[in-house]
Amino acid sequence: MSPQHHPSNDVLTGYVAGALEPGFGLVVAAHVEVCTHCRAGVGAFEAASGAALEALPPEKVGDDALSKVLERLNDAPKPEAKPDTRPFVERLSLKPKKWVAPGVWVAGVNTPHAPQNRVYLLSVAAGGLTARHEHTGAEFCTVLSGAYRDELGLFAAGDFAAAESDLNHQPIVQSDEACVCLFATEGRLKPQGWLGRLAFAYADV
Ligand SMILES: [Zn+2]
Repeated sequence: MSPQHHPSNDVLTGYVAGALEPGFGLVVAAHVEVCTHCRAGVGAFEAASGAALEALPPEKVGDDALSKVLERLNDAPKPEAKPDTRPFVERLSLKPKKWVAPGVWVAGVNTPHAPQNRVYLLSVAAGGLTARHEHTGAEFCTVLSGAYRDELGLFAAGDFAAAESDLNHQPIVQSDEACVCLFATEGRLKPQGWLGRLAFAYADV
C-alpha cells in the first residue's frame, strides 16, 4: 500500500533545496524513497526551480538523494560507487540497540556531521504502548515497518509524520509485527509519568 501521510509542500521544497537539517532530511528521504506521489512532487519542484537551481552548485535530488543525505551525515563523500540497494534500515550507521522497556528498543543513528540532530530508530513490539509525551521541538518520523495509531490517525510503513512542539501524544502499535520508526527531533522529549521519564533518560532521546 502506498503511504497515506506525506510531508507538507514546505518540507518537500526544503528537502529539494537541501535546506533541512541533515537528520530531518534523512527522515524525509526515507519517505520519498517509497512514495511515488512525493517523488513526483520532488521532480516538479526541481523542474519549477530548475533555472534558479542551475545557478547553484550541483546538488540534484535524484535516485541517489538518499545516499547524498547519508554522506552528509556520515563521512566525507566517497568516490563514485555503484548504488547501494540494501534496505533503508541497513544503510544507516546505528549505535547499539538499547532496550528501554519490555518490547521496546531504541538505537541512535550516527550523525557525526550533524551532532545537534537527534536521529534514532524506535522499535515497539506488537500491542506495545509508548510513553505519553510532549514535544519541546519539531519532530519528523517515517514508519519503516509495522504501524501505529495516535490522536492524528493510523500511520503504516512509509507514512511520514511531523509533530510540532505542542503535540502531546501516545502512539499505540497496531500491527502484528513490531513497529519500527525513524525519528529526527530537535529539543528533548518530555515524557509523562515516572516509567516514561526513566525509559527516555536511559535511551538518551
Ligand atoms: Zn509522500
